[in-house]
Amino acid sequence: MKVTKIVFATGNRGKLREASEILGEGFELFTPADYGLTEDIPETGLTLEENSLQKAEYIFEHLGCDCFADDTGLEVEALGGAPGVYTARYAGEGKDFGKNMDKVLAELSGLETKDPSTTRRARFRSVVTLILDGEIHQFEGTMDGTIAREKSGRGGFGYDPIFIPDEYPGLTAADITEEQKNEISHRGKALRAMAGFLSEYRTKR
Ligand code: IMP
Repeated sequence: MKVTKIVFATGNRGKLREASEILGEGFELFTPADYGLTEDIPETGLTLEENSLQKAEYIFEHLGCDCFADDTGLEVEALGGAPGVYTARYAGEGKDFGKNMDKVLAELSGLETKDPSTTRRARFRSVVTLILDGEIHQFEGTMDGTIAREKSGRGGFGYDPIFIPDEYPGLTAADITEEQKNEISHRGKALRAMAGFLSEYRTKR
């Protein structure tokens, strides 16, 4: 089988493993660091689409090869879609997940004090940008749920301890297994959409 080489704009080993599993045998994934590109990629966009595109274009400009990048945000309905594109640094540049979660919980409690009917609905949204043969393609995946009243669970990362996916009522994304989460996650869905596109693209050529 012909193997397609592709660079994933990430330094996160967990994400790399997840993407490799989803794309399957026909694809060999590399990171920018495998090509000596170790600097932080700028993320100055105002939307997930812009940031994801910015990261993929950065790799394409520096390495000139097929590549993809993802950008994810937590969108809380009662907070007008915040933290959104600022998810990683919601409570400051330190990217402290504990403080980020505390800020979301405090803001929601504040709103509930004023209006007890405030919704706790939220979703994670991932946008993956693929640059293939110099052409840009974007894919989206979402995971819907609600924000818990307190943190729970030891698994996952980021905001998982305060996010209750609709598929697992009463459990947070940090309470379920990695396999259970990958099946329903925003990033999993966006990556599977890209994988479907890639395998169709390859069979047409
Ligand atoms: P990134 O664009 O994948 O780097 O994600 C931005 C931020 O979103 C991360 O720093 C995390 O705080 C959060 N995040 C992304 N994906 C997840 C997830 O699957 N669970 C919880 N938090 C996430």
